[in-house]
Amino acid sequence: MLDTSPFLVRHGSPAGLARRDPHSNQGFEGGKAEGKAALEPLSARLSELQTALWAESGQSLLIVLQAMDTGGKDGTIRNVFMGVNPQGVRVWGFGAPTEEELAHDYLWRIHDHTPANGGITIFNRSHYEDVLVVRVKDLVPESRWQKRYAHIVDFERLLSDEGTTVVKLFLHISKEEQRSRLEARLQEADKRWKFNPGDLEDRKLWDDFQEAYEEAITRTSTEQAPWYVVPADRKWYRDLAVASILIETLERMDPRYPPEPDLDGVVVE
Ligand code: ADP
Repeated sequence: MLDTSPFLVRHGSPAGLARRDPHSNQGFEGGKAEGKAALEPLSARLSELQTALWAESGQSLLIVLQAMDTGGKDGTIRNVFMGVNPQGVRVWGFGAPTEEELAHDYLWRIHDHTPANGGITIFNRSHYEDVLVVRVKDLVPESRWQKRYAHIVDFERLLSDEGTTVVKLFLHISKEEQRSRLEARLQEADKRWKFNPGDLEDRKLWDDFQEAYEEAITRTSTEQAPWYVVPADRKWYRDLAVASILIETLERMDPRYPPEPDLDGVVVE
């Protein structure tokens, strides 16, 4: 387990993205091979905790995953949840809203996909897009998106008060790392399908996106729904950090198996 406290954005403190090193491997002695090996016991622990959460069926976990393009959301989900029973975990991706979704308030499409008791749901992008891409690309006037930070804090408090723990992860990559990942998508045949020319347009807006993330994370990291900024240039370190944060979160939730039924004298014929 990594010490997760360096990743946590404390309520009331700035996210401080510019001074956080995306290439960090703080607290881990060793390289990629050791990092990958260290993930295995963490996956096993996650799996145990997920089983207990499912058996208990009295609370749930919502994981919000955000990142710049190529930030590694898909890889993180794949690697960290590899050993976990797929029955108890759902992944929900939020792309550009449909016409029907746009005809409602921005949280309308979100609430329907929050986890039920016993479940873990991962949001691959989320309601945060409504203060990120929407802000950077001027999709609604500032007078509207400015109010959303407060709605989001309230919405997440509602979830937490009603038994859904919310944990939010920003996979923090450097602009240089994004260049190399985009180039890999262009050059490597098995990665081409992931290349989206629109990502190059968004890359030009890098600084605006960083500024939008800085403000969103700063204004919405709360005790009930904290943000963690995960150094994500090294994929193996990112996976270890995410697994550590999730284990810590689930251990704090402390899911308990229901009391065993009295089975004395029960015989299977
Ligand atoms: P990903 O990049 O996460 O792998 P996609 O290629 O489907 O997935 O991209 C989803 C796109 O949808 C992103 O460009 C994102 O900015 C956009 N998007 C998500 N939510 C919103 C929103 N609320 N308003 C506008 N665009 C959004």
